Amino acid sequence: MPTTLLVWFRNDLRIRDNEILHEAAQRADRVLPVYCFDPRHFAKGRWGFDKTGPFRAQFLIESVADLRGSLQERGTDLIVRQGPPEDVIPELVKAHDVTGVYVHKEVGTEEEDVEQAVEQALAPTDAVLQYRWGKTLYHADDIPFDTDGIPKVYTPFRKKTEKQASVRATFPAPDALAPLPEGLDAGAIATVEGLGLKPAAIDDRAVLDFTGGETAGLERLQQYIWQQDLLKKYKKTRNGLLGADYSSKFSAWLAHGCLSPRTIYEEVKRYEDERVSNKSTYWMIFELIWRDFFTFITRKYGARLFYQSGPMNRAIDWDENPEAFERWATGTTGFPFIDANMRELNRSGFMSNRGRQNVASFLSKNLNLDWRLGASYFEAKLLDYDVGSNWGNWAYNSGVGNDPRNRYFNILSQANRYDKKGAYVKHWLPELQELPADKVHTPWELSDSEKSMYGLHGGGYPEPMIDLEASYERLRNG
Ligand SMILES: Cc1cc2nc3c(=O)[nH]c(=O)nc-3n(C[C@H](O)[C@H](O)[C@H](O)COP(=O)(O)OP(=O)(O)OC[C@H]3O[C@@H](n4cnc5c(N)ncnc54)[C@H](O)[C@@H]3O)c2cc1C
Repeated sequence: MPTTLLVWFRNDLRIRDNEILHEAAQRADRVLPVYCFDPRHFAKGRWGFDKTGPFRAQFLIESVADLRGSLQERGTDLIVRQGPPEDVIPELVKAHDVTGVYVHKEVGTEEEDVEQAVEQALAPTDAVLQYRWGKTLYHADDIPFDTDGIPKVYTPFRKKTEKQASVRATFPAPDALAPLPEGLDAGAIATVEGLGLKPAAIDDRAVLDFTGGETAGLERLQQYIWQQDLLKKYKKTRNGLLGADYSSKFSAWLAHGCLSPRTIYEEVKRYEDERVSNKSTYWMIFELIWRDFFTFITRKYGARLFYQSGPMNRAIDWDENPEAFERWATGTTGFPFIDANMRELNRSGFMSNRGRQNVASFLSKNLNLDWRLGASYFEAKLLDYDVGSNWGNWAYNSGVGNDPRNRYFNILSQANRYDKKGAYVKHWLPELQELPADKVHTPWELSDSEKSMYGLHGGGYPEPMIDLEASYERLRNG
């Protein structure tokens, strides 16, 4: 009797360094690769924002299509269904005598709920859900901590992990796979409209023309590291705001699993051997360990990561002010540095790390609004949304997470430091185009005649929504 194993793809939309695909292909005569467009991912979240907005939905669709193409090249196909995995998977298991289901373990309460639902739905069958770990650079079994013992702070996590663990080698992609059973309909890939979303085109001003899928992810890796030779100066450029080159832009491919962190690691090591090894090459690995940290933190704190008091259980008296939130979300706060970043997010699904830190600090510290509104909004908009990196960073920047210092950003100093000439602000706020560099971050200081001269009269740009200094005074007094 030929054996059939089912490979359930989720945030691991790749054929290279994919342990579940590799192992199932080794063990079984036939593999059923499955992807489910789960309607829960396209519903509204608790605060009324899309769980997945159109930019990420489009990226996901492209990633699924690319995976299907790679599987077809190897002789099989990707079975695509629209429905909850706990309905789809047991049906396929029963219809095709599947003896085991392979899946990569996720973190995050919603993700784990689905795993449990699938386990339960499989209970009456002979197939067992088999978990493998494939999300992080360091394997969950190799880090020198058990889940409860993950340090609260990044540095001890990184230092001990680097000292005591090593990164496992990547798995090769399978060469060939047996075709799907005859008569089994592979199914159509969803469309953005079919998922109930209104398609939206990414603005031409975006940092990159992001295309989903392993093929495009590997191309970006080649381009960033090898063709453009950018890795050797990453540490110096990574706080940039404009264009494709200041940082790797790997995040959307990592979030969907089109690229694995170990694949990036191997390329960094090869680059270090063949070209140059310096602080910048190491810093890429350093940042990937941040990603690991937030993944393991998410695993450790479970539902607490999503509580108002965050993983550190800090009670903060947040204000409720829907109008203020709306101005933050739409990039109409009257503070150009915040507005430019929010408009970039809204129009392209991307924002630099520097921008993310500043807008998060502005929402939670200057406006004193519940940080979870911001995190949920980012969840809807980001191309690279990842449960741990998003909620972990938001909690961190809002004073309820894993930042031992509980800092806030001075947005004007940040703007003057990282956007000295105002080029970034002008890129996303063309209404400020005519302003000289020393005025672009503080247009409220312009006299009436200057406003006229620079074309800012008649509602060209909003007045600041708060007294910034007063908000810093409040923060300083604690
Ligand atoms: C409020 C807030 C929300 C965020 N939400 C997300 C999110 O949903 N998804 C996401 O991938 N990143 C998130 N980040 C982290 C970071 O901003 C992005 O990973 C980074 O900007 C993506 O650009 P890049 O790939 O060019 O990064 P690079 O600077 O080139 O870094 C390389 C990779 O390292 C990882 N990395 C870098 N910085 C961080 C960090 N602070 N935390 C975790 N991983 C990091 C990412 O995987 C990134 O792709 C968030 C940061 C903040 C402050």
